[in-house]
Amino acid sequence: MRTIAVLGATGSIGASTLDVVTRHPDRFRVTALAAHRSVDALAALCVRFRPELAVIADPACEADLRARLGAASVRSRVTSGPAALIEAAAGAHCNTVVAAIVGAAGLESTLAAARAGKRLLLANKEAIVMAGPLLLAALKDGGGELLPLDSEHNAVFQCLPGGRPDLAAAGVRRILLTASGGPFRGKTRADLARITPDQACAHPNWRMGRKISVDSATLMNKGLEVIEAHYLFGAPAARIEVVVHPQSVVHSLVEYVDGSVLAQLGNPDMRTAIAYALAWPERVEAGVATLDLLKIAHIDFEAPDRKTFRCLDLAYQALAAGGTATTVLNAANEEAVAAFLGGRLPFLAIPDIIERCVETVDVAPTVDLEVVLDADLTARRHAQRIIASLTG
Ligand code: NAD
Ligand code: MG
Repeated sequence: MRTIAVLGATGSIGASTLDVVTRHPDRFRVTALAAHRSVDALAALCVRFRPELAVIADPACEADLRARLGAASVRSRVTSGPAALIEAAAGAHCNTVVAAIVGAAGLESTLAAARAGKRLLLANKEAIVMAGPLLLAALKDGGGELLPLDSEHNAVFQCLPGGRPDLAAAGVRRILLTASGGPFRGKTRADLARITPDQACAHPNWRMGRKISVDSATLMNKGLEVIEAHYLFGAPAARIEVVVHPQSVVHSLVEYVDGSVLAQLGNPDMRTAIAYALAWPERVEAGVATLDLLKIAHIDFEAPDRKTFRCLDLAYQALAAGGTATTVLNAANEEAVAAFLGGRLPFLAIPDIIERCVETVDVAPTVDLEVVLDADLTARRHAQRIIASLTG
């Protein structure tokens, strides 16, 4: 039986996870649910799933959640705050953790799950971008396993022999990450001058949270995924390439030295990756429709437009710089995206903020959490100063 903590239960990945879980009550049981401050949504999930632990990250919401669960006769233990998230990730109630909090807020619970030896289903890519070496060390110490939920990395995992082998020994030449190109594929800088948050969040193929939707529109999502692939698969940046594939049915590819290229295909539906990672090494039904190749008819590939969408190269540059450069990249991006979503920053200024932070903030080796949190905070303050100076 997989006993499962879903961190970020009220989000898009959380909903897809709970849909898969509901299909297999004989295999999967939810033991903890955590969310930020959406009390209504979390309370409704607790009524449905009756977890042992209900965590609301914002302590100001704890009394409200407790009252609602009490009124509904749900006996989940209600807790809040950062330590509660860590308990939800590392406690004895679960053997599996779905890390689906968005952003740096998910870092410490993700690390805690790894250190506790859980099966870690990683959606929270910001955690591995911020602190890749720490996450790998925590996994090693804990003796658990990491299964990627990001569709591209889940695809690569499926195309590699035995999950995460030594790539050179396995004869891997390249990892090819596919990108949809987002809602603004084919647009020029002039077209993008007046983009609104709602336009940026209208992704052509996937329904996701607003932060990752903006990342998809800037191509930073693919940049974060290059860094994620580097850490997950031990691949040097030179062996990770990005190819735009607008239909989003080829989720990524692995090329071998003999010229073979293996790809994983499927409808753009996160439940495939989630079901794969929950049931691995078995396969279970995920509620995903059969891929209709005749209806799709064409699969296209093109090069990313790196001039218009500068974030992709900024991510490669941060990866080359190493250490906390990717922490700084992530923090600056989170601040810039939040400012854009709040109507305080134009879309095209997002890469400018990131570039200036990566150029300015000192980079250190990623030796411990303190160094990472320090780089994160310094980069955020710097980004906020630049944003304030731009917006007056
Ligand atoms: P979302 O915005 O829909 O959901 C985010 C969840 O995180 C919510 O449950 C929210 O309550 C919780 N959360 C936010 N801030 C928090 C905080 N400070 N403390 C505790 N919980 C907090 O986002 P999403 O689209 O589900 O994405 C979640 C993560 O998965 C992101 O890292 C994203 O990059 C990654 N991801 C998502 C998709 C997708 O299809 N949605 C695909 C690949 C990867
Ligand atoms: Mg992805």
